[in-house]
Amino acid sequence: MPKHFFFDLDNTLTRSKSHIEPAHAEILKRLAERADVVVVSGHDENSIRRHLGVDLQNRYYILSQNGNHAEDRNGKIIWEHKLGISQVRSAHKFIEKARSNLALHVKDENDIVEDRGCEVAYSLIGHHEDIEIKEAFDPDGSKRKKLLNDMRRDVEMLESLGVEVRIGGTTVLDFMEKGKNKGYNVAKLIKTLGWKKAGCVYVGDALFPGGNDETVIGVIPTKPVVDYRETYVYLESVLKKP
Ligand SMILES: [Mg+2]
Repeated sequence: MPKHFFFDLDNTLTRSKSHIEPAHAEILKRLAERADVVVVSGHDENSIRRHLGVDLQNRYYILSQNGNHAEDRNGKIIWEHKLGISQVRSAHKFIEKARSNLALHVKDENDIVEDRGCEVAYSLIGHHEDIEIKEAFDPDGSKRKKLLNDMRRDVEMLESLGVEVRIGGTTVLDFMEKGKNKGYNVAKLIKTLGWKKAGCVYVGDALFPGGNDETVIGVIPTKPVVDYRETYVYLESVLKKP
């Protein structure tokens, strides 16, 4: 059994932007008694805490905003990589162009872009759109892959300004400092805490090319899952082992 478990949040531990199911929280709690648990998400730290609930509080490390904000189990900040003003501006410019290219009808104009400090998160249809609509929108990421492909010149432009864009969550593109992705930050945490890579596993639903979990491949062993239900089937089998 691995000693250190890393998990993506959206669709790996919970349904998108939803609270963890009580039965699932119970499994995670049992795991946290036997191993380190680290949550690595594009979400900000407060939303991770909210979605995982009070029962799990102080039982896991947080790598929020794709790991650009790191906290230990007691909520003590280990590091923060903030985006610069010009990087935020260039992400916003990209989003404006993407939105005019896509011309999607959205319910709430103010629900599209979230500036989280260490990253900018752009939901194509709205961060708080109905969950069924969100899940049906781009389940395999193909809409967002196509967008990034159609806008590859702009993606390159962003990169030249030190910004990286990746598919995250169910409807989101995450903009972070170039190279400061989940893979980089997972490696940094392991080094900081003196953990061995071979004793780690990363569980995620976006380990495909362009997904925000992909950068962890090659850093530590990975376990791809289709959705959060599969995560708990896997954990149940892990917990059965002595
Ligand atoms: Mg995910």
